[in-house]
Amino acid sequence: MTTTISELKTLWDRVLVKLQDTINDQMIFDSFIADSSIYKIEGNQMTIVVSSDFARSIIEKNYKPDLLQAVEEVTETNFLIDLILKQEVADQVVPQVHNKPKNNFFENSEINPKYTFENFVVGPSNREAQQAALMIASNPGKFYNPLFIYSNSGLGKTHLLHAIGNYIKNNNHRLNVLYITTDNFVDEYIKFVKGDRESDGLKDFFRTVDVLLVDDIQFLAKKDKTQEMFFYAFQTLINSNKQIVLTSDRQPSDLNGLEERLVTRFSSGLISKIMQPDTPTSIAILKKKITANGLEISRFDDDALEFLAQNFGNNVRELEGALNRLVFYTINIKQSNHIDLRLTQESVPTSHKSKENKLSESKIISVVADYYNLTPSQLTGKIRTSEISLARHIAIYLCRELLDMPFTKIGQTFGGKDHSTIMSAVKKVEKELKTNEQLKAVIKELKNRLK
Ligand code: ADP
Ligand code: MG
Repeated sequence: MTTTISELKTLWDRVLVKLQDTINDQMIFDSFIADSSIYKIEGNQMTIVVSSDFARSIIEKNYKPDLLQAVEEVTETNFLIDLILKQEVADQVVPQVHNKPKNNFFENSEINPKYTFENFVVGPSNREAQQAALMIASNPGKFYNPLFIYSNSGLGKTHLLHAIGNYIKNNNHRLNVLYITTDNFVDEYIKFVKGDRESDGLKDFFRTVDVLLVDDIQFLAKKDKTQEMFFYAFQTLINSNKQIVLTSDRQPSDLNGLEERLVTRFSSGLISKIMQPDTPTSIAILKKKITANGLEISRFDDDALEFLAQNFGNNVRELEGALNRLVFYTINIKQSNHIDLRLTQESVPTSHKSKENKLSESKIISVVADYYNLTPSQLTGKIRTSEISLARHIAIYLCRELLDMPFTKIGQTFGGKDHSTIMSAVKKVEKELKTNEQLKAVIKELKNRLK
């Protein structure tokens, strides 16, 4: 039986046309029947959503036979019909049967209710991705398709995917949302696609999905057969305006080992990058987690939170870990009510402290590279895209300014550049800093992270 939203809608429109013919009271039809819809079909049970209690009574009492007949004529099946109210649909906690596709594909993939838009802290580093995600969640299939979100690890990609899933489940019950990791997809492919028949099963399965959320698509690299199947699923969904959201640890053009046609498709919607949060955003994230844990923010000194933000802010997962450790340490070990900077510093493992505290050229390189989502070797290498060049100049500038390194030494570190190249990079940044507020803010943030 048909199950996708658009198929159900077409089917219902046909039933309504028939009903309109039989029920010749136009006012009754308009007031009580016209805005009904199919909620779900399971076996020979069809559930219809109607707009009010009145509508339900009137249909039950006077028009049930007409309704049954119209449905039978359109579907050539004898359905049992159940009427429910819009309100009841809203009250139902996630209609599992409907949300879970019938076939037993991806049985274990669940949308985690823990990750929502409400508890996602927005700042300059992730605003674009969050807004794009929210736009898509409120209008699946209407804007960017696919939405491709990428970032380093621990910066909220998985969180946003689940947030989209939860939002749609709460606001648009009838859509079938599927969240999977790329590993799930690979496993499923291996499990089911042994012969043609099963492969059709998996193909058919994707026709029942309205919103597909795929995490960590970089793991599709070098898996040629699986890529073929993914391409098929992707095209099927995109062609019928079903929403796809993908995440990855790098942008599509850097996905080595992926078929060109997939890279092209992945780039055809909106690509959005999440950067490391700046210090104020990291602090806001900490505060959100503190209240979510039922603790009072007033128990934490500002400089304690700032310390965590500056030391762990380049990865929100680690930031959370540091906060958890701190809470455990102060509450369970120190049994302290108030959390100040000293306690916070004590809670940080020594390995982390010594690594973080020593300022060196390699630390500058890794912090700047992280900030721009580049690898250290890209930063010290020879490739000159405008973004890499800017990041490189900034790293060179910081080596000079913070470590007072000789130009020739910096030149060696940055891939054997000569003294004058380094000098002019430093001058360039110094000159720019006099007028460019944005650059000033970047340097300030980087110095913060290097503290
Ligand atoms: P990724 O998928 O990019 O590796 P996750 O989405 O798993 O990162 O995020 C790691 C952890 O950090 C999760 O617990 C997530 O809830 C949290 N997190 C990341 N970004 C934010 C944010 N902006 N606001 C609140 N929590 C966040
Ligand atoms: Mg993730």
